[in-house]
Amino acid sequence: MIFKDDWHIHSIHSCDGACMEIEDLVKGAAAAGIERYGITDHIHTQFNYPDIKESRKSYEKNRIEGFHFGVEVSCVSKWELEKVETKNYAGDITYGIRQGGTPGCRLAIAIDEEFIEKYSIEFVVGGTHWAMYTDNEASKIIKDYHRQNMFLAENPLVDIIAHPWWYYGPCTDGWTEDFGMIPYSYHEEFAKACISNNKLMEINIAAMLLSRNYSKKFKEMYVDYLILMKELGVKFSIGSDCHNEFYDLDLPEASEMLKKAGFNEYDFHSPV
Ligand SMILES: [Zn+2]
Ligand SMILES: [Zn+2]
Repeated sequence: MIFKDDWHIHSIHSCDGACMEIEDLVKGAAAAGIERYGITDHIHTQFNYPDIKESRKSYEKNRIEGFHFGVEVSCVSKWELEKVETKNYAGDITYGIRQGGTPGCRLAIAIDEEFIEKYSIEFVVGGTHWAMYTDNEASKIIKDYHRQNMFLAENPLVDIIAHPWWYYGPCTDGWTEDFGMIPYSYHEEFAKACISNNKLMEINIAAMLLSRNYSKKFKEMYVDYLILMKELGVKFSIGSDCHNEFYDLDLPEASEMLKKAGFNEYDFHSPV
């Protein structure tokens, strides 16, 4: 394999369907030849803080050389963080408040320096996970995703931008079929922001390279996008985004895909 790192992994303490015990991760990573890696459970809003407390506890019990503690924060709105803070909401907010906000709203992440210190968080992965209260039209989603990716690339607390352009929501004119719908200028602008702010851009295995949610054409274009970002001077980290019960993703297949695209062992960097 051309990488021996993995900087994006979820455990049973993640708020979503992830279900791996941290001791199984430690065993599985060793068996897969992964030498440096980190756990990164989700924080969308303050509502998910108890998960991180549990994640840290479990990490402490299974600490080993090369194994680090991180989190994955979502880009959310300042509006929803204020509502969560004052308990001004109804219903399930596991994923924040995804209805009722204003398109173009002020963006935010639910962590600060104090939180990072409290849980001895060594690195922060920041991800765009949904369009922020826009209509489900491709052009609006794409514009808002770029805005969020730029916000994350400019945020001093974020080390790695997770899975740029991952999308799992509804869309009336399916851009998950055609990656080419994204304007080239967005790629240039994002590359510049990553470089000038010293951020790593993630190459994501489960949610992008091996995902079945995108058309063949979309994935081929996504790999071309990775090549373009490399040519523009962006530095990468690798992340499996494993949500499985065991650390059993087809890492060699992802490695082959990247090798064919011209990547080598020197292209993957560590946030710690
Ligand atoms: Zn993510
Ligand atoms: Zn993730």
